[in-house]
Amino acid sequence: MLLNGKQLAQKIRSELKNIVTKKNLNPGLGIILVGERVDSATYVRMKKRACDEVGIRNIDVMLPETITQDELISKVDELNDNVLVDGILIQLPLPKHIDEREVLNRVLPEKDVDGFNAINIGSLALNDNPKLTPCTPTGVIRLLKEYDIDLEGKDAVMVGRSNIVGMPLALMLKNENATVTLCHSRTKDLSMYTKQADIIISACGKVNLITADMVKEGVIIVDIGINSVPDATRKRGYRLVGDVDFENVKEKASFITPVPGGVGPMTIAMLLKHTIDSNLSLVNTNSPS
Ligand code: NDP
Repeated sequence: MLLNGKQLAQKIRSELKNIVTKKNLNPGLGIILVGERVDSATYVRMKKRACDEVGIRNIDVMLPETITQDELISKVDELNDNVLVDGILIQLPLPKHIDEREVLNRVLPEKDVDGFNAINIGSLALNDNPKLTPCTPTGVIRLLKEYDIDLEGKDAVMVGRSNIVGMPLALMLKNENATVTLCHSRTKDLSMYTKQADIIISACGKVNLITADMVKEGVIIVDIGINSVPDATRKRGYRLVGDVDFENVKEKASFITPVPGGVGPMTIAMLLKHTIDSNLSLVNTNSPS
């Protein structure tokens, strides 16, 4: 059965739009884009379009590749201080000369809609009422819950340990009482772990990393990877695939996400949700008691 992230994301977006209209909210998302990477510009464009659709204002901060650490930090501070900004998104990756961790930690935790600030990651690790959690992992958990997939006691293998996807998702699986194995590029024998798994989540960016011989019958598969492969039959000359050999693995899986149309749309839906959640809690904090 397909885990249809596209459909769920659309449902969430229309619910959010209704909340904005009914409560007469005026949420704002500050978006910092540094440099001119084509992929980053595309992601920002998609996020801005989604914001427009649900009624979130964008406050664009386009900065040159040559910006210094101090200049970038002061731009983050401006957004932190701006009462019309409820959420701050810093499009990654930042240029190599920038200390990414310092910049992400500068975002006020209550405006950290991407959930990358060390304080928010800390709350997630401690399972101490985490509020703003990274969007892609949050979207994955939301998608699994939509299909009534109970994670408690499941053997879950998370492949990939990045700070923005694999590591926080492993923490979320742990918080949902799954038994979690976190694999990465130094894992000696990946298939030894995946063959035992009730659920496999891959976030690596490697085509055909997970093949049918590596999974057991009935496995649940979430494919976060996005890879472009040449395809002469497509107008643009390529198509997007995940990390999983979808055609063969789907024959053994009980549930599987497609790429595209699985996790990707959920990431954006969670960004919108976090921005509106922040608006609601900041408005409440700022209003006289
Ligand atoms: P990173 O490059 O930061 O991390 C990749 C991870 O994969 C690393 O932990 C790496 O291990 C691990 N890895 C690489 N090769 C292997 C291998 N052969 N076996 C096991 N583990 C391996 O990427 P991100 O986490 O940022 O993104 C991962 C993928 O997810 C990408 O394809 C990205 O495009 C996609 N993505 C999709 C999103 C969505 O919304 N659908 C959102 C964000 C990302 P090590 O740590 O040892 O290097």
